Amino acid sequence: MIGGDCNLKKIGAVVAAIAAVALIAFIAWDSIFNCTVTKDFFAMDTVISVKVTGGKAKECTDEIEKRIQELDGILTRHKPTSEISLINKNKGGTLSDKTAEYFRLLLDVSKKSGGAFDFTLGAVSDLWSFGKSPSVPDEKELAKALSESGYENVSLSGNNLTLKSGIVDFGAAGKGIALDEIRTILEDTKAKEAIISVGGSVLIYGKNEAKVGIRDPYGNAGRSIATLNLSGSCISTSGSYERCFEENGTTYHHILNPETGFPVQNELVSVTVISQSGLLSDALSTACFVLGIEEGTKLAEEYGCEAVFITKDKTVFATNGVAAKIEITDNTYNLKTYEN
Ligand code: ADP
Ligand code: MG
Repeated sequence: MIGGDCNLKKIGAVVAAIAAVALIAFIAWDSIFNCTVTKDFFAMDTVISVKVTGGKAKECTDEIEKRIQELDGILTRHKPTSEISLINKNKGGTLSDKTAEYFRLLLDVSKKSGGAFDFTLGAVSDLWSFGKSPSVPDEKELAKALSESGYENVSLSGNNLTLKSGIVDFGAAGKGIALDEIRTILEDTKAKEAIISVGGSVLIYGKNEAKVGIRDPYGNAGRSIATLNLSGSCISTSGSYERCFEENGTTYHHILNPETGFPVQNELVSVTVISQSGLLSDALSTACFVLGIEEGTKLAEEYGCEAVFITKDKTVFATNGVAAKIEITDNTYNLKTYEN
């Protein structure tokens, strides 16, 4: 019996030793392989913040920067040699597989939104000069640019695109497209967790939930009025506080009503859309802003996405799927869901 006791003690000591070694190995593994790398850089006309944990975090962040600069070079209208600029110049062309897919998805959003989302408003946007020295455009020039725009002027057959008239502008979806590209890199480099923000579009990657703030429409960029607790999602916000200016007592902003060519005038100050797809979260945030709460909710639901609408009178409308994930942090705002 004494010998048995002794053996038990020995076994216990060996098990404890193995457990201790395993714990040390786990901590070492975790700190070597789950290190966090952060990086900020400028692309797509905005600041991009990347925070990656685990996998090949350093290679991953470097690859993200490289790929986003490349993507910017494809989608931008500011470089005459970009794929989008060439399409505008040549009134179409043969697209790369990826760009053809972006067009297909955005044409679908244009159709499903009844034209509220329209990525051919480039000439109309240019007349407003948002972000440069903005002013209300000349009426005749605006009417001409508007008559030439319209997503119906775009036809896509396989990778061949024809643009009858209008100027293609991916301003409402490019940042979301960037998130989809980034997600692929995170998967390829086996990252564990990541938070990426590309202007008003954020990707929460991994199993753990993270808090994403919804910006105060009336305050500075760093202040939020609510937080969303989400994992594995893309979250994009479109707000009338971005790229706006005042002329003769009226405030104008950059989200345009494709029917009038003027900034959308409705009850909203911002719309946030949550989706698995970055492209959809970004495009739908713009589309839902144009459509307003009722029609916007229907469109978001059609795509299986959630949305949060903030009105001028400080009401926060959240679709049912996101209501439990939202926390109001500024008590001058009231939360309403479709159930209350
Ligand atoms: P941000 O650029 O701040 O992310 P959005 O995603 O809401 O904002 O996109 C707004 C941009 O999209 C505008 O600056 C303009 O280039 C373009 N745009 C404006 N109105 C529309 C619209 N109705 N449909 C599609 N694109 C639009
Ligand atoms: Mg958008």
